[in-house]
Amino acid sequence: MKTCKIGNVVIGGGNKIAVQSMTNIKTEKVNEVASQINALALNGCDIVRVAVKDEGDALAVGKIKQLVKVPIVCDIHFDYKLAIKSIENGADKVRINPGNIGCEENVKKVADCLKMHKIPVRVGSNTGSIEKEYLSKYGKNEISLVESALKNVSALEKYGVSDIVISTKASDVPLTVKAYRYLKSKTDYPLHLGVTESGTYESGIIKSSAGIGALLVDGIGDTIRVSLAGDPLPEPIIAKKIIRACGLDKNYCEVIACPTCGRTEWDSAGLAKKVEDLTATINRPIKIAVMGCVVNGPGEAKDCDIGIAGSKDYCVIFKKGEIYKKVAFNDAEKEFIREIEEIAKSL
Ligand code: SF4
Repeated sequence: MKTCKIGNVVIGGGNKIAVQSMTNIKTEKVNEVASQINALALNGCDIVRVAVKDEGDALAVGKIKQLVKVPIVCDIHFDYKLAIKSIENGADKVRINPGNIGCEENVKKVADCLKMHKIPVRVGSNTGSIEKEYLSKYGKNEISLVESALKNVSALEKYGVSDIVISTKASDVPLTVKAYRYLKSKTDYPLHLGVTESGTYESGIIKSSAGIGALLVDGIGDTIRVSLAGDPLPEPIIAKKIIRACGLDKNYCEVIACPTCGRTEWDSAGLAKKVEDLTATINRPIKIAVMGCVVNGPGEAKDCDIGIAGSKDYCVIFKKGEIYKKVAFNDAEKEFIREIEEIAKSL
């Protein structure tokens, strides 16, 4: 399995799944873009992509890099000169397809520049950019998506580039999943996962979770981008949650909460949300349960390190399914958080 180094972040070969996002401000606006990149990094983003549309954007990359710590990927369409300018200005990686930068000579120039600066490149396809020859041969499906991406890989390999990341994104979830599964069977380059144009906040989260999640559970994918229409700041938060839900990062407080039912006599869902917020910065593998009733709750959450279940008048705190102590309703929240912090300290 190949690895790939983007600035100080290594992806592939079993390294942790890197979270990516993309700025949505004209790259030339150095200070605004740098602030957005720093805000994305605070939200858990490991790598940030910027669009390079013209020379002003390419030149801004060097200045932005002085104001941020995360690696920067430059996204270029059509113009090989912008790719070269971005690389010369410090891009840690570029996203470009040899298929859309013109003649062989242009491809060779970009390849030589990538090798000279020792930086990786992402090539790939999405349903809007499938090569005509594959579209007419196979139609719009996983085979044409993958063959298109691999054609771009070969175009760079021909000139000695082997530091490559590949993507095959579709906005259709089943097609995205099929394409990456097929791609994985044909290559050992690191893979960048995403469901493209996945939509507005809620549908984007749902489509990304279904598509990226299915692949991560299968062990496919080395870096992910959740794309949501509009503000990118929530993207890395959602991406991290997907990675955690797939069991690939256990260093956090996982809060299990029962759905509540007719037996529930207190606001257990409200406390679950509060506990999730209050433990968000505890980066330790602790499984916490907040359950609706004292009768069934502890038993239903046996595999949790610690839990709480309530009735109208009091709560019980339990550990590994066994009742640990009974607490007055008003002290429950404070006492529960204190117990969780004690567990975190002991780990
Ligand atoms: S823990 Fe109790 S309140 Fe919650 S769903 Fe189960 S039975 Fe219902």
